[in-house]
Amino acid sequence: ASDTEKQVGRFAPSPTGPLHLGSLVAALGSYLVAKRAGGLWLLRMEDLDLPRVVPGIADDMLATLEKLGFQWDGEVLYQSRRTEHYRAAAEQLQRRGLAYACGCTRSEIAQIASAPHEDGLVYPGLCRNGLPLEKVERALRIKVYDEVISFDDGIMGRYSQHLTASCGDFVIHRADGPYAYHLAVVVDDAASGVNQVVRGADLLASTPRQIYLQRIFGFPTPSYYHLPLVTGPDGAKLSKRDNAVSLSAGRDLDREGGRLLFAALRFLGQAPPPELQDAAPAELLEWGIAHLDVSAIPRTPAPFVYP
Ligand code: GLU
Repeated sequence: ASDTEKQVGRFAPSPTGPLHLGSLVAALGSYLVAKRAGGLWLLRMEDLDLPRVVPGIADDMLATLEKLGFQWDGEVLYQSRRTEHYRAAAEQLQRRGLAYACGCTRSEIAQIASAPHEDGLVYPGLCRNGLPLEKVERALRIKVYDEVISFDDGIMGRYSQHLTASCGDFVIHRADGPYAYHLAVVVDDAASGVNQVVRGADLLASTPRQIYLQRIFGFPTPSYYHLPLVTGPDGAKLSKRDNAVSLSAGRDLDREGGRLLFAALRFLGQAPPPELQDAAPAELLEWGIAHLDVSAIPRTPAPFVYP
């Protein structure tokens, strides 16, 4: 992104459970990076995987964000209403010979795949040269080639991935299910003019696949900032099922919203003055916009310290 280009960031939660401490960090980080640059902050509900979507959660998320003082620009985008765009993108890939029907089951893949990798099994390419007669189409996969995709993350530094070794040809649509997250994110970010992506480091390893898709579609690649993950107090993975981390259940955000934001700023390596500890959310966000120092954001996962 050039210096003069209007910055457009976004927060893209999946309404499969209430906002949690990790979401708070992602919302705050993306908000501050966008607003510090005088940019827009868009909100997108990633409600594509409808069976996993919990009714009412999307509205609960909007109410929670409002109570925390976040103001998004424009209308909220719902992925569940954008299927035709994902279909058009997938059809384009098929027309160009870049995507193919795959009939493999998970267990078939597990039997021959090399060791599991990052977030799944490396697909061994069984259906790449045509769906075997005895198989039915289960998924649409995009072909990847023997290349390394690298990018410079604004927090994590240089990150590289060899697609063939790390994931192989990956799924962009399930025959009986939704379009894949990677396809939807790339299509939506481009459609919304998003040029900065600030999100949790759990998606760092997904980024090369998304950059690969951007290049194929001729979309620009945004700047990326992957935020450190929030762990449990013992350093282990934070569980979404852990009620203590929910931002809405059992919390009075009118009272503790400011303190949560204060703690989230500290989690991001920022140093709000102690007298802001009990300030209102809007005041903490203002402070963050004025003082954000991206170079102070830590790279390593840590517990969320909340007094
Ligand atoms: N919906 C994803 C999540 O909640 C985030 C997607 C993204 O920021 O690209 O983990």
